[in-house]
Amino acid sequence: MQARMQREDELEAPAGPHSLVGASVSKGERAWGEAVASTREKSPASFDQWFSGVQFDGLTDGVLSLRARDEFVRQWVEDHFLPTMTEQLREQTGLSIQVRWSIDVALERPVANRPVPFAPVRPRSLSVRPAAPGEELPSGVHPVAPEAGRLAAAAPPVEGLNPKNTFANFVVGPSNQLAHAAAMAAAGGGGRRHNPLFICGGTGLGKTHLVHALAHRIREEHPAARIVYLSAERFVNEFVQALQDQRMNDFRARYRERCDVLLVDDIHFLAGKTQTQEEFFHAFNALHQASRQIVVTSDKYPQQLDKMEERLVSRFQWGMVADIQAPELETRVAIVRKKAQLEHIELADEVCLFVAQMVRSNVRELEGTLIRLAAKASLLGHPIDLAFARTEIAATTTARPTEASVEDIQRVVCHHFKLRSTDLLSKDRHKSIAFARHVAMYLCKQRLKCSFPELGRAFGNRDHTTVISGVRKIEHLRSSDPEVRAHIEALERKLGAAD
Ligand code: ADP
Ligand code: MG
Repeated sequence: MQARMQREDELEAPAGPHSLVGASVSKGERAWGEAVASTREKSPASFDQWFSGVQFDGLTDGVLSLRARDEFVRQWVEDHFLPTMTEQLREQTGLSIQVRWSIDVALERPVANRPVPFAPVRPRSLSVRPAAPGEELPSGVHPVAPEAGRLAAAAPPVEGLNPKNTFANFVVGPSNQLAHAAAMAAAGGGGRRHNPLFICGGTGLGKTHLVHALAHRIREEHPAARIVYLSAERFVNEFVQALQDQRMNDFRARYRERCDVLLVDDIHFLAGKTQTQEEFFHAFNALHQASRQIVVTSDKYPQQLDKMEERLVSRFQWGMVADIQAPELETRVAIVRKKAQLEHIELADEVCLFVAQMVRSNVRELEGTLIRLAAKASLLGHPIDLAFARTEIAATTTARPTEASVEDIQRVVCHHFKLRSTDLLSKDRHKSIAFARHVAMYLCKQRLKCSFPELGRAFGNRDHTTVISGVRKIEHLRSSDPEVRAHIEALERKLGAAD
């Protein structure tokens, strides 16, 4: 009974089911509250999105009990949040933490977070009357669920989508996980749906892929939803054409009324086009007011968009701004593997790794390199082995293999603290060696695009949680201890400007 009361209190708390209310908070609850607070701080939107489907049931004797709405939420939270959180709980309680999950489909999202349904405002008559034998269906209406004798109105196909750009074909890593999660949520896949969703990032990093994936997903699950997908460039062209042909009413109706989901790619293209911006602004308002999902992509953050009306920029920030960064090595390897599999290219692991190491800038280039390699190999009838890849890639890419590496940083740190080169990788837990090791981990994390597991392996096969706590320690000491700050600044000078 007591547990049930507490759950209700918790659900009523404004900050969601993770805030701890009431005076009688146990030690475990307090530790969990602190872990939640510090993890959430780093990425509140992503955290809230996933933890809206998780319930804390207690932390006793090192056993953390959690409930998840479904297996998908459980897996995501376990992969992306728990390593840091359990490490922090371990530090706080002095106990190693075991997580005990249960699935509870009754865990509803808080009402305020429930997504707006994709509500097509199609004439209802289209979906109620079964067609008479031989009767022609109105265009765009396809019969489904014949067992119920009903017709469901399917919206016309969405133009311009690449069928390969699905969620299943998208590799998720730290560089794109927020944008991926937000796109899944926008497609109705759980978590809080933000409106608008603004996906930004450099070229070739997967923005268009995610938007296509989102459109495919909505189409599968809500065939009647009218999805409009287009590039901002096409929006401009259509607008100009409509003006010329005096068809503005039709143009407006298409974007303001006959649309349940509006997806506009490369919105930065509207820069300087004030009249089109004005038109887009009105479409945005009409859709937003009607709770229709809007997703835009851009190569810049909203506030960096040049020559864009302030009122549009501010609207872009109303919902969620999710950025995509260049992928780190592990993600690049997974992408090469996935692409090879999709294109039926046989590729040894060492070649995957080599390609991923050599091409760092963006995924499009990574993909291009793989396709070129496969084409050349097939032309010459040569297997794609490491030697072949080396020669071909050296001839065609502008990769910079000389960029600072983990080893460079380790070397500079060893020299600075007068340690042997093997000390950082050893099991030696002597205070001064451990400190230098943590500093090296911290510098690697700051300067290289390495993930925690990658760093763990590079530091004598340590667990990624050890790296996380090492990096965190130095972050803390850097701001609280002048001596540590001086060491780090000296090391930074030795290493030169970060790229
Ligand atoms: P952007 O729109 O950001 O310029 P795209 O979405 O066109 O980039 O992506 C470029 C290419 O890279 C596409 O072929 C896309 O499928 C692929 N790609 C990008 N990110 C990923 C990823 N995380 N997983 C799989 N493929 C990806
Ligand atoms: Mg694109």
